[in-house]
Amino acid sequence: MDSQSIIEELKKLNKISSQLDISQEERASLLNQTAEYTNNFISTLHTIKGYQEKIVGNLSINNKPASLKDLLTLYQHEVAESGINAASPKHLGYIPGGGVYTAALADFIAAITNPFAGAYFAAPGAATIENEVVDWLKKVFSFPESAVGCLSSGGSVSTLIAFTAARDKFKIKNEVIPKSVVYLSEQVHHSTQKALRIIGLEDVIVRYIPLDDWHKIKPDALNALVEKDKAEGLNPFLIVATAGTTDTGTIDPLNDIATIAAQQKLWFHVDAAYGGFFILTSKKNLFKGIERADSIIVDPHKGLFLPYGVGAVLVKDSNAVLHSHYYTANYMQDGQNEELLKSPANLSPELTRHFRGLRVWLPLKYHGIEPFIACLEEKLLLVQYFRMKLAARGFCLGPEPDLSVSYFWYPFANDADEKNKLLMEEIHKDGSVFLSSSIINNRFVIRIAILAFRTKKETIDEAVEMIDRCLENILSNYS
Ligand SMILES: *Cc1c(COP(=O)(O)O)cnc(C)c1O
Repeated sequence: MDSQSIIEELKKLNKISSQLDISQEERASLLNQTAEYTNNFISTLHTIKGYQEKIVGNLSINNKPASLKDLLTLYQHEVAESGINAASPKHLGYIPGGGVYTAALADFIAAITNPFAGAYFAAPGAATIENEVVDWLKKVFSFPESAVGCLSSGGSVSTLIAFTAARDKFKIKNEVIPKSVVYLSEQVHHSTQKALRIIGLEDVIVRYIPLDDWHKIKPDALNALVEKDKAEGLNPFLIVATAGTTDTGTIDPLNDIATIAAQQKLWFHVDAAYGGFFILTSKKNLFKGIERADSIIVDPHKGLFLPYGVGAVLVKDSNAVLHSHYYTANYMQDGQNEELLKSPANLSPELTRHFRGLRVWLPLKYHGIEPFIACLEEKLLLVQYFRMKLAARGFCLGPEPDLSVSYFWYPFANDADEKNKLLMEEIHKDGSVFLSSSIINNRFVIRIAILAFRTKKETIDEAVEMIDRCLENILSNYS
């Protein structure tokens, strides 16, 4: 092509390619429609169900332009009204969170301005915002300033980062792997075992530590296991405790475990994905010892009620993290002189990444911390309120939880597991409030996890009414 035809061709292409950079009027119009849609979504959250079973319709991409109005209608029907309504106060299953509005605005701004938050050199302001969030977390958990950390997509990826650091510090590779021992509670989140497998430690020995009646690790039993393994010439290297188990809301005895980990020279990891931010509440004393951990993970998309997609990890040994994650290349040379630890990319598997610092930083700056703490305290009281209501109705309850997750079952005279399963199905069919189930001590149980920031006393009353209704159906149909 000669230069004249290139110019002609560029003119033609520009007409089409410029459609991606829309005009100010169109931007305002699209933003208005989006604001109206999302405002309406939030205003009507209380009136729609917590769970709706649905067969999703056609969402395939056909390369034909559509109007935003049509797309929002499609979204509402096929996405917003299908499955668990996770933004709703009525999400009381798994581990909810909610999605505070100011975090969504931060995401919007982050996406429009699109700084390259992985490298300090490329976006010093954005990297600093992420580092400020990490520094704040270090203060919250009394970690030393020398600790490092980053924001990840969630607890699972945070766990990968913490475990690779532990693996590399202890040089767990090759023939050492099958002799190495990891100590877990049966109540660990499954992302723990999954992370071991992903990072090449599938063949380590996993010991499950005996638990007490409150589902807490027994420190003496842990110590005995480690002693025995050492005596047999094995290589104990990692103990995982949980600050807020998913199924039972339990905090392991962190301080006692920290002492054993220090004596036995184990890497002490605390999974505080769900429970971590309760350290800001009246439950603070239960977290004693978390500051002695080698690594912790915590999920702002749970305990800070931010939209899904933000977890955090803190690790004391920066060299271990750098060993796993620092890498460079010729095309990175412009930024090489900047300090290593200021660039999140050196502490995480991600290079180009979502600027997720802003969705944590902006809500904390805008609201201050008080409303977050009040929200967490509220959840602690709501679970007590719920348990009292259920006890009064003859339900059996799991042990008093440390945090805001609890479980229960109805003592049907026969086939209790089967009938509690039917009760769960009935609750899902009803759907006004969403609960989920689990198996604890070989028993089928129904869980309530109160963490959505919009969940209030009225929601719990609605849950109890629903349970009454569903129980009545089971009792009249199957007794
Ligand atoms: C949710 C959770 C995880 C996993 O975190 P994701 O953000 O879902 O990846 C790990 N541990 C605990 C205790 C959790 O509650």
